[in-house]
This record gives sequence, structure tokens and C-alpha cells, in this order.
Amino acid sequence: MSKHLELLKPILAEVIAPQAQLVDAKAAFPKKAMQALADVGLLGLLSSADVGGLGEGPRAAVEVIEAIAQHCATTAMVTTMHYSAAAVIEAHGTLAERKKTASGEHLSTLAFSEAGSRSHFWAPVSTAKRVEGGIALDAQKSWITSNNHAATYVWSSRPVDSQEASTIWLVPRQTKNIKPADSFDGLGLRGNDSGPCQSDNAIIPEENRLGEDGAGFGIMMEIVLPYFSVMNAACSLGLMEGATQRACAHASGARYAHIDKSLADLPTIRNYLARMRCKTDMARTLLYDTVSAMEVEREDMKLRVLESKAVCNEAATEVTDLAMRVCGGAAFRRDVGVERYFRDARAGTVMAPTTDVLYDFIGKAICGMELF
Ligand SMILES: Cc1cc2nc3c(=O)[nH]c(=O)nc-3n(C[C@H](O)[C@H](O)[C@H](O)COP(=O)(O)OP(=O)(O)OC[C@H]3O[C@@H](n4cnc5c(N)ncnc54)[C@H](O)[C@@H]3O)c2cc1C
Repeated sequence: MSKHLELLKPILAEVIAPQAQLVDAKAAFPKKAMQALADVGLLGLLSSADVGGLGEGPRAAVEVIEAIAQHCATTAMVTTMHYSAAAVIEAHGTLAERKKTASGEHLSTLAFSEAGSRSHFWAPVSTAKRVEGGIALDAQKSWITSNNHAATYVWSSRPVDSQEASTIWLVPRQTKNIKPADSFDGLGLRGNDSGPCQSDNAIIPEENRLGEDGAGFGIMMEIVLPYFSVMNAACSLGLMEGATQRACAHASGARYAHIDKSLADLPTIRNYLARMRCKTDMARTLLYDTVSAMEVEREDMKLRVLESKAVCNEAATEVTDLAMRVCGGAAFRRDVGVERYFRDARAGTVMAPTTDVLYDFIGKAICGMELF
């Protein structure tokens, strides 16, 4: 077993799995899980060894996120957002910030989505203006995971001077006039503390810029999109795997006393379970092929990245829907654990780039058209 999965194994068993139901029921941020991941160095998975990280790439990230999501998709999504932000900080941040991110001292996240441009994250409408003392940020961010728990946000805005679409900043959450909304009461991923964040003339040092002024679009497309897409897909994959395993266990254990048969003895139920297994394995095959494409920068890498998020997100809604059907009325009970997977799986499809946008991009790509 690889080192990162060895490190993860006891945390899954002792912290993440036992707390998953509580995280969901109370919409509680998975603090203990994030601390446990930080303690063994797993929040530095993508950071290089010279700043204390594990120096891993997309394969390890996908393996870790899938494994976590099998038990708790909330924790998997918080970790996904940290890794997505960490990849940008690793490429463009200061040495000190790279170290803090790698050690988990600074949990980070992405602050891209805005009330103005909604899921079209590549087109922020928020502003960054040079003022006395630094850069003033004005924004209505619509969704930030770990909104009240991240130490830093990787934040998009219109550029200061450039005519390009965007610039990226590292924004400490404690910056004066940064106001994250209090709490999240959502359908799924209930503990991930996602929410809006208002910024009214919040001033940060100009040195907090990540990359050049106007370089935001390139950073989004070259770093964030591939990493976020495969990890988000891995979250969906973990949900599919978890739901399939739970549905099989329930179908094998639940019995009809009057005919002395289990639920799994019904051919219809086995057919549903088989479809769940097939879809999960198809999605896994595509996702790991995407990872292979990323590792060698294969020609079809960009198309695969778009496909894997769309396919895994959509398959997860279908597989978890089938899990609800297989488990029947029992699926409505929280203790069976299937309905949490069903609810959590809905988020992937609407997280940007949404499935609809991905299909539009994929269609354009295969017709030889420009994506933007
Ligand atoms: C749990 C959760 C956590 C999140 N965490 C973060 C985070 O940490 N950071 C962050 O930046 N964002 C985050 N987001 C936001 C997310 O990435 C999306 O921006 C957000 O979900 C979009 O919602 P909306 O209502 O603004 O979508 P809208 O843009 O209003 O879209 C509504 C519908 O229109 C469709 N649509 C939009 N454009 C097109 C198009 N061109 N063609 C076809 N259909 C289209 C969409 O697919 C969607 O079905 C999070 C979202 C969720 C649900």
C-alpha cells in the first residue's frame, strides 16, 4: 500500500468513519478529521518535500479523496478544496505560506464563485483596486467551502491593471472587512461550511497576489481545473463505491421470513446492484485513465479531465438513486446510511464547472470549436 494510504487508513477507521453520521446530522465541520489529516502530513499531499509536503500528484490525490468519500463526502470535499487551493499556493505562493499550507497550519480553500457570475467562475465580476496600504477587494462571493474554518482563501477578482479576465489572490480570512456568512444548512455535504462571503473594501498587501496581474484565467485552467475536476470526480466515485457496498450488504442481510429468502435473492434487486457495480467501475476506469493522461501530459488529457468530472458526477447521482431503490423503505432511515450518500452525491453536478457546462465544453472540443 502506498504511503499516503497507509497514513490515511487509521484516520478513516478511528476518526472519519465514526463521525460521518454526526457531521451530517449536525451539519458540523469535520474539525477532528482535518486535524488528524494535518497531524500525519496528509494536508501537504500535493506540496513539495522542501516545504514539508509529500510531493505527490493527481493519482495520490484521487486515491485519498476517493477513500475518504467512501465514508464521509463532507470531509472529502473540504480536503478537495484545500488541495485545489494548495496546488495554486505551491505554484505561486511565498515560501512561508507554502510551508503553512503543507503542514495544515493554514487550511485553505477556493473563493471563485460569485453572486454576479454564478457558476461561470472564469469570469469574476468582483474588483481589486490599488489603494493606500495595498489592494482593496470588493466582492460578493457566493460559495466558499470551509468558509469560517479556512485560514486562507485562494480568491479571484478582476485584475488591477490588466485587461485580462482575472487575477488570483491569497486572502487571509481574518482580514478586516471579510465577512463569511455564519453557517451552512444544505441538502448534502452538510458539514462542509459552504456559504457566501462579503468583502467590502478589504485591504490586503499587493504581495499576496498569486501569479501575475491578469494571469488568473491561466492559473484556473492549468492548475485548478485539472486538479479540482479529478478530485471532485473522486469524491463522486467514493460515494458510488460506498453506496454500492452498503446496498449489497443490506440486500444480503435483509430477509423475507415467509419465503426464507434474502432481498438479494430477488433477480430484480441483483440486477440493480449489478448496474451500480458496472457504473461505478466504468467511472473508476475513466477517472484513473484521466490520471494516467495527466501524469504523462497525454494529448487527450484536457478532454479526459472534462469527461471524468461529468461522468463521475452524473454516475454518482444514478448509482445513489439505485441504492435508495434497492434498500426500499429502509433507505429512508438514516442509520442504514444510504440516504446520506444520495444527498451528498447531488452536489458534484452543480459544482462548477457544472455538468451542463462540461457537456457544452466537451461538445465544443470534439467539434473543433473554442471552449471560451
Ligand atoms: C456544496 C457546495 C460547495 C461549494 N464550494 C465552493 C467553493 O469552495 N468555492 C467556490 O468557488 N465555489 C463553490 N461552490 C459553488 C459551485 O462551484 C457553483 O458555482 C455553484 O454551485 C453554482 O450555483 P449557481 O446557483 O450559482 O448556478 P447557476 O450558474 O445559476 O446555474 C444554474 C443551472 O444553470 C446551468 N448552466 C449555467 N451555465 C450554463 C451554460 N453555459 N450552459 C448550460 N447550462 C448552464 C447549470 O448547470 C445549473 O444547472 C460550491 C457549491 C456547492 C453546492
